[in-house]
Amino acid sequence: MATLVFLEIDEGSVKKSSFEAISYASAINAETTAVAFGDLSADDLAKIGKAGATKLLHVTDAPFAQPNSMAYASALAEAMEKTGADTLVLAKSSLGDAIAARTSVKLSASLISNVTSLPGEEGGFSVRKSIYTGKAFANTQSVTSRRVLTLRKNAALIREDGQTVAVEGFQPTVRDADFNVKVLSREKATGEILLPEADIVVSGGRGMKGPENWNLIEGLAQALGAATGCSKPVSDMDWRPHREHVGQTGLKVAPSLYIAVGISGAIQHLAGVNSSKYILVINKDPEAPFFKAADYGVVGDAFEVLPRLTEAVKAQLG
Ligand SMILES: Cc1cc2nc3c(=O)[nH]c(=O)nc-3n(C[C@H](O)[C@H](O)[C@H](O)COP(=O)(O)OP(=O)(O)OC[C@H]3O[C@@H](n4cnc5c(N)ncnc54)[C@H](O)[C@@H]3O)c2cc1C
Repeated sequence: MATLVFLEIDEGSVKKSSFEAISYASAINAETTAVAFGDLSADDLAKIGKAGATKLLHVTDAPFAQPNSMAYASALAEAMEKTGADTLVLAKSSLGDAIAARTSVKLSASLISNVTSLPGEEGGFSVRKSIYTGKAFANTQSVTSRRVLTLRKNAALIREDGQTVAVEGFQPTVRDADFNVKVLSREKATGEILLPEADIVVSGGRGMKGPENWNLIEGLAQALGAATGCSKPVSDMDWRPHREHVGQTGLKVAPSLYIAVGISGAIQHLAGVNSSKYILVINKDPEAPFFKAADYGVVGDAFEVLPRLTEAVKAQLG
């Protein structure tokens, strides 16, 4: 049985989380087929093979050029039948979630979302998933012959030792009912790095004392090419816009590196950041709860640490 992986393409590039999905799928089954809709760069094609896909079903037909969860779900269900695959893996995202739900209904397959582990050895198909906005885990078992999994960001390391992927054109059936909403235009916020997609996030809390000090957060973010975030009280007090509020009631982020400055590490804040690959905490209180969730910690005054860290980053990165 093969394993199928949906590749999400954003701004012409395959998302990092989709490469994680390929590597995860290839650890379940060496016969991993990726499915991509739209143009792919030569660089991405090479990375798809290196990440572990052995075959790529490439859809280039015009109706599938715009992201469309209904059409993509129909096409993926068709690809599952065509390849005889028993498992479909998608990276968790708003598009991935919508496609996963629809595809599982079409295939009468079980759906396990927010998966964080490879299937266990104990027989059946059992995986761990993150629940309660990342505050707990559940052990789950798929009891159907086919299954759809959405993978939490940073749940798998991206392989780089795979081979060249074999590319095959795939023309899914075009169903009018899947195209009942037309996208007339797309406008994207420009000039800043969007938080949910950022690879590095520098986030400030009440320990920054006031909005007049955010130049220190922005300075480090700029030096690192990072997005800026904040804790809830910071946005409640209008020090920062609400779109930067990270946590249980704000945005969930999953960067490679989350830098928390002057944030205590309340459970509601951690719920938004605990999918991060690495967490660096800067706090003057050595007892701050955030240090328990941190990979790296600096006990110090943010107003002394940030300027020195920013200068060091600039010197290192040029
Ligand atoms: C239902 C509910 C939902 C919530 N949802 C969210 C959410 O989504 N996101 C969220 O963030 N919060 C949320 N909260 C609030 C949460 O419980 C905390 O109150 C909040 O996260 C605290 O923000 P903070 O860490 O910025 O401030 P504080 O708790 O005041 O912590 C400030 C930290 O800064 C440190 N500090 C002070 N001065 C310095 C300095 N000079 N240098 C370095 N460190 C310094 C202090 O040691 C302290 O650890 C929610 C609460 C509830 C009840």
